[in-house]
Amino acid sequence: MTEWSYEGATGPDHWADLDPAWAIAKLGIRQSPIDLAGATDEVEGSLGLSYDKVTLTEVANDGHTLQVGVTAGGMLTFGQRTWTLGGLHFHTPSEHHIDGEAFDMEIHLVHTDDRNQLGVLGVFAEIAGGFGALSAVFDAAPDAGTTVDLRLEEIPVVDVLPPDRSRWFAYTGSLTTPPFTEQVQWVVLRQPLEVSESDVQQMRRLFGANARPVQPKHSRRVSSPG
Ligand SMILES: [Zn+2]
Repeated sequence: MTEWSYEGATGPDHWADLDPAWAIAKLGIRQSPIDLAGATDEVEGSLGLSYDKVTLTEVANDGHTLQVGVTAGGMLTFGQRTWTLGGLHFHTPSEHHIDGEAFDMEIHLVHTDDRNQLGVLGVFAEIAGGFGALSAVFDAAPDAGTTVDLRLEEIPVVDVLPPDRSRWFAYTGSLTTPPFTEQVQWVVLRQPLEVSESDVQQMRRLFGANARPVQPKHSRRVSSPG
């Protein structure tokens, strides 16, 4: 597999040239992340998040982020479409911006539909005092190439969501990591989740900064209710 990273000769400026299959990183006009400012309130669909009883199963370090597995049954609905939750991972700082500002972290809950197309729920996170709901995940964070079982912790996926899920941004974009596939439905919640400073420090210690820079919006519209 082609090596890539977040800095230097294998960093974001070079991703499109590292592998012919990644050319869309430069040629695509629907790449992610983007700055979400300037959203229209003409909303194309309602958002449904159904994660009851879904819990985290294991955490793996793939060298670029922590990948967390989940039990079956998580569903994202947006407009007429439905996707099934496959897992989640983390970026520090956030990949999406609002008015030029990044948050301390962004969590991506990655879903797939029956045509194998992706729907990703983005959750901003910011450092607040005290114990973060995700500390068990970060405390368990394994070294590159290894996996730690989280089943005994029984951490609900809803712990990864902020209390207010009524405000969000939606647009069509791409994967923010190789192979940068487009036609990804993005929904990013407006209210950030609170995490602890040690959670963010643990991500930084393991991966440094692992956020792709914001990409041109081109003619895309971002919608947001209210
Ligand atoms: Zn991601």
